[in-house]
Amino acid sequence: MPGAGTDKTKLWRAEPAPVVVLVEPQLGENIGAAARAMANFGLSRLRLVKPRQRWPNDKARMMAAGADRILDDAVLFDSLTGALADCSFALATTARAHDQAKRVVGAAEAARDIAPRIEAGETVAIVFGRERNGLENDEVALADRIVTLPVNPAFASLNLAQAVVIVAYEWFKLKSGDQLPFSMPQKSPSAPKQQLLAFFASLERELEQVEFFRPPDKRETMQINLRNIFTRMQPTQQDIQTLHGVIMAIAQGRKGPARGGVLDGEEAEMLRALLAEHGGGRVPNERGPVRGLARLLRRNPTDAERALWQALTNDRRLAGRGFKRQTPIGQHICDFVSFPLRLVIEVVPPDESAPAAKARADKYAWLKERNYRILELPTRAIETGMAETLERIVGATGGD
Ligand code: SAH
Repeated sequence: MPGAGTDKTKLWRAEPAPVVVLVEPQLGENIGAAARAMANFGLSRLRLVKPRQRWPNDKARMMAAGADRILDDAVLFDSLTGALADCSFALATTARAHDQAKRVVGAAEAARDIAPRIEAGETVAIVFGRERNGLENDEVALADRIVTLPVNPAFASLNLAQAVVIVAYEWFKLKSGDQLPFSMPQKSPSAPKQQLLAFFASLERELEQVEFFRPPDKRETMQINLRNIFTRMQPTQQDIQTLHGVIMAIAQGRKGPARGGVLDGEEAEMLRALLAEHGGGRVPNERGPVRGLARLLRRNPTDAERALWQALTNDRRLAGRGFKRQTPIGQHICDFVSFPLRLVIEVVPPDESAPAAKARADKYAWLKERNYRILELPTRAIETGMAETLERIVGATGGD
């Protein structure tokens, strides 16, 4: 797209610059493309020595893509000597060695040779040859320097306009001090060390929780390596806030429906079995521990609990019935409860051990004394028949 990145409100660079001379260019397209390249890199004075096609030229205009002003101002000459008459310094560009005792430079060095002369107010010309034959020996002889580019020796000849673009680019690069027109926007300032250290502390605390730093003798190296990952990326304040949010979301899970957690479904079942046997699903003493335990269970649902919760919250018949998961009632934790309906739903694993069954019976007795109804759902039933399971729950809620 020719106009992309072009700002029409910006002035063309009118600073002094070398003249581009094209000797007997054959194709209008190449003249237009050369003009475009010149405009891109701050050159504006074009001289044409005997262009082979009619001038002005529509194809040239088309390829110039808006650099018409350069074409309009192009000056025609009958000979190269005429085109160079007012120039105090000329460079001949060529892919071929012309075997002349004349300094040969690359495009960057050419720009360095030109700059002080332009600054001194001299007129400097860069001469380009014909598409097919390049420059004749006597034409090269008029120049003060030969400019050639490092190229594949098996395919050394560039398209005329492409040769212009490289030379013009080096000129502009030098004049603009190699400044790029834009850079990455700095959306958030760099994170200060204090913020980084606070992030490390919280990351390492969470990793500590899952005993990540093992074995102990590797701890220090692991910590340093881990910290360096983040230090290397020179994070912004926003980066650290985001990373911090990610760590907390993974570690604590989102509030709401069963998500996240550290244990997988099977491990979550083992946790329940362990609690059922040793604590009877009941935590002695104060409210604190039972809540913590309930939170732990909420964050680590078994597969059956997770599936049931999802189905339950998506079932229109059960929406708004006030169901919660892993909720403490007194000192007991119930898998699902609706306080408005005073209904407890328990997911019962197969083959419960005797102590676990005993604890369950005690829990039910305690709940019944307090007018809770209890619906038992075997894990297997949830896994194999969710629709029927939901029917049973709807039945127990007294709904339709
Ligand atoms: N066959 C011609 C190349 C013509 S290309 C030859 O042998 O010279 C048209 C013009 O582009 C050349 O005259 C020269 O001005 C420029 N050019 C092409 N390839 C170049 C290169 N490798 N180094 C410098 N200028 C080159």
